[in-house]
Amino acid sequence: MNILAVGAHPDDLEILCAGTLAKYSRDGHRVSMAHLCNGNKGHHHIPPDELAKIRDKEAASSAKIIGAEHINLGIEDLDVYLEREQVLACVELIRRTKPDVIITHSPDDYMPDHTVTSSLIFNASFIATLPHTKTESKYFEKITPLYYMDTVAGAKFHPTEYVDTSDTFAIKKKMLSCHQSQLKWLSEHDKVDILEFIEVVARFRGLQCGVLYAEGFRKAEVWGRNVTKRFLP
Ligand SMILES: [Zn+2]
Repeated sequence: MNILAVGAHPDDLEILCAGTLAKYSRDGHRVSMAHLCNGNKGHHHIPPDELAKIRDKEAASSAKIIGAEHINLGIEDLDVYLEREQVLACVELIRRTKPDVIITHSPDDYMPDHTVTSSLIFNASFIATLPHTKTESKYFEKITPLYYMDTVAGAKFHPTEYVDTSDTFAIKKKMLSCHQSQLKWLSEHDKVDILEFIEVVARFRGLQCGVLYAEGFRKAEVWGRNVTKRFLP
C-alpha cells in the first residue's frame, strides 16, 4: 500500500504517529511523510529563513530512518488557511502520492495549523477525485480512507483503533531525536521534555489496549470512506 501521512509541522508525525509509520515501512509499504509548514517560527533565536532550512534537514533525516519519502510543502508556520491555493497544493500532494490510506491531524487538536491541516487534507482528498479540478497530476480515482492521529497529549481524543508500537517505539524516539531544534524549543516554549512526553502518551495508549506502547487513531467515519477491512498495521 501507499501510506500518506500529513502533519502541520516537520516534527508532528514523529510525535503523533511515527511508531505506526515505522511498522508500515517495515511491513513493506511505501510511506510518504509530508508537512505543510516549513517550521520557520519554532525557535526563540534562530531566524525564520535559517530555521526553515534546519527543520527541512531534520525532517529529511527522520524520514530516512524508516526509508520514507519526505515532502515539505513550505508554507510558513501559522500561515495555513483553508483557501484555494493551499487546497490545490494538498490535492496535488494526494494525486502524486496515490495513497491507499491517509493519516492526518484530528479536527480537535490544540492549535490552528493542526486543525486547518486536518480540514485541508479531508477536503483535498475528496477534491482530488474530481476530473475537472486540474492540478499537475491526473485526478485520483478513489476517495481515500482517512485516519486521524492522536491529538497532542491525547486531549479530547478517544481512539477507536490502536496500533501496537511496542517494537517500533525506539525507532519513533530516534526519529523525533532528529528534530534537535525542537527538543530545545519545546522545552523552552512549552516546558516539556518531548521525548519523555511521547513515552508517557505511548504507555497510556498501551495501557488502554493491553500492550506496552501504542498509538491511537480514529477513522473518519463518513460515507465514501467507511471500509470493512482494517488498514492500520
Ligand atoms: Zn505541530
